[in-house]
Amino acid sequence: MSESKVAVVTGASRGIGKACAIELAKAGYDVIVNYAGNEEAANKTVAEIKEITKTNPVAMKFDVSNKEAVEEAIKEIIEKYGRIDVLVNNAGITRDGLFIRMGEDAWSSVINTNLSSAYYVSNPVVKIMMKQRSGAIVNMASVAGVYGNAGQANYSSAKAGLIGFTKSLAKELGSRGIRVNAVAPGFIQTDMTKDLNTEKIIEHIPLKKLGTPEDVAKTVKFLAVDAQYITGQVLGVDGGLVI
Ligand code: NAP
Repeated sequence: MSESKVAVVTGASRGIGKACAIELAKAGYDVIVNYAGNEEAANKTVAEIKEITKTNPVAMKFDVSNKEAVEEAIKEIIEKYGRIDVLVNNAGITRDGLFIRMGEDAWSSVINTNLSSAYYVSNPVVKIMMKQRSGAIVNMASVAGVYGNAGQANYSSAKAGLIGFTKSLAKELGSRGIRVNAVAPGFIQTDMTKDLNTEKIIEHIPLKKLGTPEDVAKTVKFLAVDAQYITGQVLGVDGGLVI
């Protein structure tokens, strides 16, 4: 079994996931940097982590919306390391559009990538965490899952689902030493939000600025590592957007 603690971060090649991988590595975890297709970005995340920590990160390609691919990947991780201490279910996509024009493909792809993925990845991970009698899961929800968003019926449903998933797992797994929390970011500067009209959005944010991936990552690290008596919570990282 690996002597270092191990963290799996899905969608860690870019954006919020990358910042979470860096933050957990700074806390001493060997991080599995999952990605969907962007190998160059994933390798860059790994190289950056190696530059600033003494940990051993690895990039690992698998599609979180593909149950078989996920099962194989988690099996490989457990065979190699013998443990998983932290899981961050972060990978996500948007396929925005008004509901009356939302095709089934836009609905299913967002539900599968943002919500079913959490079931696929967490299921085998929870089994090893139960054997360890310890572990922490952080799910990447969104303000859209808390208060809805026009043009995001698919995304809001997936993120609201993640919140119910978080609370249910927290209740089931607390007695096994496993904590499960979620963060609900507001508008964070990443590829996902690069085409939005930020001037208009900022008017509604009490702190009058967008968040950074590091703002979210520090909260994820807090919930995963420091917050040993916190479970089942949804922590907003949104500059006060949802109060
Ligand atoms: P991003 O910059 O677009 O990065 C998305 C990441 O997810 C990439 O690493 C991507 O991998 C990976 N990914 C996408 N589909 C995947 C799949 N099927 N399997 C494995 N990995 C996959 O997004 P972000 O803004 O950092 O968002 C990260 C999470 O935060 C998402 O769940 C998002 O919904 C949530 N969130 C974001 C905001 C925001 O304002 N940005 C706000 C609230 C919540 P590749 O690089 O290989 O494509």
